[in-house]
Amino acid sequence: MKFKEEINESYTMAEAIAEAQRCLQCKVPQCKKGCPISNDIPDWIHELKKGNMGNAISIIRAKSNLPAVCGRVCAHEKQCEGNCVLGKKGEPVNIGKLERFVADFDSELGLTHEDMVEKTRGKVAVIGAGPSGITVAGDLSRMGFAVEVFEMEAQCGGVLRYGIPEYRLPKEVVAREIRYIEKMGVVIHRNTHVGVEITVDSLFEQGFDAIYIGTGLSKPKSLEIPIWQNGRCIFKGEGATRNFNLKRIRLATHFLRRVELINEGFMKREELPVDEGARVWVIGCGNTAMDTSRTALRIGASQVNVIYHKGMENMSALRAEYEDAVKEGVRFNWWSAITEIHVDDDMEITEIVLETKEPGKEPVKQTLPADNIIMAIGATPATKIVRTTSGLDNDDQNFLITRDIPYGMTTRKGVFAGGDVVGRQATVVHAMQDAKKVTMGIAQYVDAVRLMKAINM
Ligand code: FAD
Repeated sequence: MKFKEEINESYTMAEAIAEAQRCLQCKVPQCKKGCPISNDIPDWIHELKKGNMGNAISIIRAKSNLPAVCGRVCAHEKQCEGNCVLGKKGEPVNIGKLERFVADFDSELGLTHEDMVEKTRGKVAVIGAGPSGITVAGDLSRMGFAVEVFEMEAQCGGVLRYGIPEYRLPKEVVAREIRYIEKMGVVIHRNTHVGVEITVDSLFEQGFDAIYIGTGLSKPKSLEIPIWQNGRCIFKGEGATRNFNLKRIRLATHFLRRVELINEGFMKREELPVDEGARVWVIGCGNTAMDTSRTALRIGASQVNVIYHKGMENMSALRAEYEDAVKEGVRFNWWSAITEIHVDDDMEITEIVLETKEPGKEPVKQTLPADNIIMAIGATPATKIVRTTSGLDNDDQNFLITRDIPYGMTTRKGVFAGGDVVGRQATVVHAMQDAKKVTMGIAQYVDAVRLMKAINM
């Protein structure tokens, strides 16, 4: 299995046009209804059919700042393709793959470029360069706002860069989308941690009219499982974070990030505590768990087992991701949980106790060999910005509180938030959908504030 190579092949031009010709050009396109950002799918497919690639990409870009990304990682089977009328009796049009084809064709040939709009409407700071921050930055820039993005990492993209693995989303594709935004005049400050190096207040002091927070979910959740050594329980799993003192227990997002850093040459393979031939147990059954399992196989694990405390019908992973994981050899343990971790004298994991409680059946306990445990059980927002900003409130799970008018404004005037940090559906296109609505809220707010200032002058 290849470590980095992208798994899904692209179309040739002839194949793409043939697929586009299957589109029925419905008068009331259900595919568009199924897309959270209302991508004008039949319109660009119509242009693609005629070979008008420039027109096709312009139509896509009018709604999306991340077409090559969405073409690869959106849940097409639940959204556009899931609504395609052809899918009722046969195969829906392969809209995701067509979008990817058009976007890649455009970037490889440099077909389109947008004229830089004069930035006269105001100045907006965007914190975080994930899908939501990039969407706000791109849309506001097109609307005539001067936008500066502040990103704590060395590279932009958020989960697109440091979460979703290379084999599903090549990092060069993400970098291309970011370069496009920069060419539109968006200024990006990388390696700038807001709440640590600078604050929301210092950004207002720099003259920004509004600030957007799109910082996602950077605090992974964890479980504390009892640890046993030589037949004795040495840690019961209450309160402390003893589990993470074992280097072979890791959080999924940290694991995926490290693999990406290895890919980029910033870390050595030996620094990753998952050895060749390791038996890896992944807890959780969302897309992060699928990416973790498939990545573990790619880096040489001999066995990867996913453990989920509910049944298959409850998993949050996309069906296609699950099926690919099964094809690649990942095994699934439904209605199961690790109840004990056994370690040797060097505190290396040797075994786990797996308890399976299938509804209506007697519980089964098994002691099984293990080398690594990786937890993929969700995440919540970090609180650095809230702690360093007065008047900015979050809820009991750390999600930022926002209101509907102007859409997306937090409890602090002029500070807006959107995407995963506000706790709506955590997918790329939903983060973009939310960000688009907040963009309109920011524009209304800044226009109103500047008008008031002009009147009072
Ligand atoms: P993020 O992508 O998390 O971006 C937040 C950005 O803010 C990051 O760049 C971060 O570095 C930066 N930041 C954070 N704090 C600060 C700070 N204080 N100062 C400056 N910068 C800061 N969704 C799909 O649709 N399809 C998939 O296949 C899919 N797979 C996934 C796989 C994994 C492993 C994970 C974890 C998620 C996946 N998702 C997927 C979900 C999707 O990636 C997220 O919903 C989406 O990225 C959220 O976008 P965002 O911009 O809100 O946050």
